[in-house]
Amino acid sequence: MYIKEAKARVIKNSRKERTIEVKFKTNNGFFICSAPSGKSKGKNEVIDFNKKGVRYSVKLANIFLKILKNKEVKFSSIEDLRKIEFILKEFEKNNEILGGNVWYAIEGALLKAAAKEKNIELYEFLLNGEKPKIPLPIGNAVGGGLHTRTHKKKPDFQEFLFIAKEEKIQKAISKNILAYFDVRLKIRWKEKKFFLKTNDENALICSLSNHEILEIMRDVAKHFDLRIGVDVASSNFFDGKNYDYKNKRFLRSREEQNEYISDLISEFDLFYVEDPFHEEDFLSFSSLLNFVKKNKKDCLIVGDDLTTTNLERVKKAYYQKSINAVIIKPNQIGSLLEVKKVCDFCKKNNIKIIFSHRSGETKDNILADYAVGFGADFIKTGLYGKERLVKLKRLIDIQKRIHKV
Ligand code: PEP
Ligand code: MG
Repeated sequence: MYIKEAKARVIKNSRKERTIEVKFKTNNGFFICSAPSGKSKGKNEVIDFNKKGVRYSVKLANIFLKILKNKEVKFSSIEDLRKIEFILKEFEKNNEILGGNVWYAIEGALLKAAAKEKNIELYEFLLNGEKPKIPLPIGNAVGGGLHTRTHKKKPDFQEFLFIAKEEKIQKAISKNILAYFDVRLKIRWKEKKFFLKTNDENALICSLSNHEILEIMRDVAKHFDLRIGVDVASSNFFDGKNYDYKNKRFLRSREEQNEYISDLISEFDLFYVEDPFHEEDFLSFSSLLNFVKKNKKDCLIVGDDLTTTNLERVKKAYYQKSINAVIIKPNQIGSLLEVKKVCDFCKKNNIKIIFSHRSGETKDNILADYAVGFGADFIKTGLYGKERLVKLKRLIDIQKRIHKV
């Protein structure tokens, strides 16, 4: 394809923070991609923007993009990103770090253009002849932790999630949304003042404890035949020694945290537990996974801050038997080729793959194509709000294309 124009600009994400949008003009039209941003970031993620800020990173990106302008680029599969990543690395070596989010937006826009050049959809381009499958949606109905900045008293866990079961994607999505509204009503009975208040990911805000919310979630899930789970995001309240719970004051040691989470899995039949221990505690993850296996619980023990879409860390977690599922956030690692390597490793070793949004999202729907194109089992992209719904709508669109309805 022939790149006629390539430009980056600053836009705002759903949290009103600055981020980058990249636009290519090729012989086939315009192709745009923008990068989301995390709040509860793992310390092993790549740096998202140059340390001088987003504006500066965008300035650097525009200098880089001049290299690609007026060039014919051969792009027949994702492997062709290798050449671009080589130029990106050389650029960073000779200049300054662009940041994972700059890589994310450049690679995303290029891949969209490459798919169009072949006259196929992006997910088909990524699948390269493999059979597509639609991932099941996971979404947070209630939120606490770092994603709920506006209230002091809030749940300690970051996300209380509904997880759809196998069925048509439209039905799965609408059940998740109906469940969300049902939870909203039930919270209202308990706490009128929080009605209609939502956090960064449009999850409901309240001051209830983890336990009280899980009771509500369990009832609603039963009614809609859904599964439930949590993102503990525990690194955010680990003080170096203990887990410092604030909603109901409690310091839990590593062993007590293990016992607490195991009890919650049993009591609430949790299907999904993300980051139950801090981001370096591979061993506690292993003992929890061992508990799950020994007691034949149908529960995913998921790494996010633990693994940060980093092949070496995912391998370590696999060999230490710490996880049976992993979160994939492409901008945790920046390179889509690395994302592919992680996904290939997970598929080979039966680790479930969950593609995930970030808390500061944009209206780009590329995550849905990535989830299908890289063979994800699940997609975690919220339940409500325009930045979340565009991704779910794209998933419905992909399902329609696959089944030609
Ligand atoms: C998460 O922890 O799963 C998450 C989506 O958070 P963030 O995007 O803030 O890192
Ligand atoms: Mg997480």
